[in-house]
Amino acid sequence: MENLYQPLQSKVLDVITETPTIKTLVLKPPQEIPFKAGQFMQLTIAGIGEAPFTPSSSQYDLNTMEITILKAGHLTEAVHELKPGDWVGLRGPFGKGYPMEKFEGKEILVVGGGVGLAPLRALLYALFHNIEKYKRISIKYGARNPSELSFRNQYHKWAKLPNVDFECTVDRANGNWDGKVGLVTELLENTGIDLTNSFAVSCGPEIMLKFVTLKLLNVGFQPGQIYLSMNRKMSCGMGICGRCNIGPYYLCKDGPDMNYAKIQQYPDVFG
Ligand SMILES: Cc1cc2nc3c(=O)[nH]c(=O)nc-3n(C[C@H](O)[C@H](O)[C@H](O)COP(=O)(O)OP(=O)(O)OC[C@H]3O[C@@H](n4cnc5c(N)ncnc54)[C@H](O)[C@@H]3O)c2cc1C
Repeated sequence: MENLYQPLQSKVLDVITETPTIKTLVLKPPQEIPFKAGQFMQLTIAGIGEAPFTPSSSQYDLNTMEITILKAGHLTEAVHELKPGDWVGLRGPFGKGYPMEKFEGKEILVVGGGVGLAPLRALLYALFHNIEKYKRISIKYGARNPSELSFRNQYHKWAKLPNVDFECTVDRANGNWDGKVGLVTELLENTGIDLTNSFAVSCGPEIMLKFVTLKLLNVGFQPGQIYLSMNRKMSCGMGICGRCNIGPYYLCKDGPDMNYAKIQQYPDVFG
């Protein structure tokens, strides 16, 4: 985008209900907005406000942009009221995006929690687009209960791709759930991942990121092999307002996906 302060009016083409608390907006911006997986947008609803969200769609399909949003408060409640034909503003992309070139030739462990699978879906699409470049893509996903599992109709398609495996778990079972019950960290115990040739990438609530990081370190990952999506409160998106820094890093500009080795010494990493 030429002017990063100017939101582009984008039409809501569709609203997909993913779970009782999560919806995906399918948006049609007036022009293509090129982005890299992991970069984020600032989404505005006129008269309500603006907040950061990471596209959940593919960087290789710029015809529409999908953004998957958990109902959390003021703005996101308004997002959940949107209907096809409504308009939102989009500005961005901001942030660095995942270091895809570093991931080449590696085994990639992708660990999501709740709506955290949304930003990771853009990463998965980018990995799948050049799937032959990666040795293995192992996806571990946890949600509060079975009805809170996002993108449920895609898991079997992902798991059928070469060298891709998918496993999910829920904190509490309900209905006719016969899958795993337990925290996502339990899926990290026996992954069979080659620790000498891998990266782990995680996105989810801060408390989950903390325990995923501790578990990854515990099973033998080095801090430099771990990337965390630091979804803190952000405002400007450009490293100006100073609301999102950890040590010398502005998460909006230097992240939001941060290598744990860079930030581990700062006391406020996990909030
Ligand atoms: C880079 C980035 C990417 C993000 N991507 C997504 C995404 O793809 N999908 C998605 O659903 N959400 C995403 N978020 C979180 C999203 O921005 C917040 O949920 C949103 O700002 C809440 O706005 P609100 O007005 O509805 O809530 P508010 O009324 O402002 O707050 C409601 C509650 O949510 C908490 N909250 C507000 N902002 C955040 C935040 N950034 N992180 C954690 N808690 C927060 C508040 O402290 C409060 O408890 C992302 C955040 C960042 C920084």
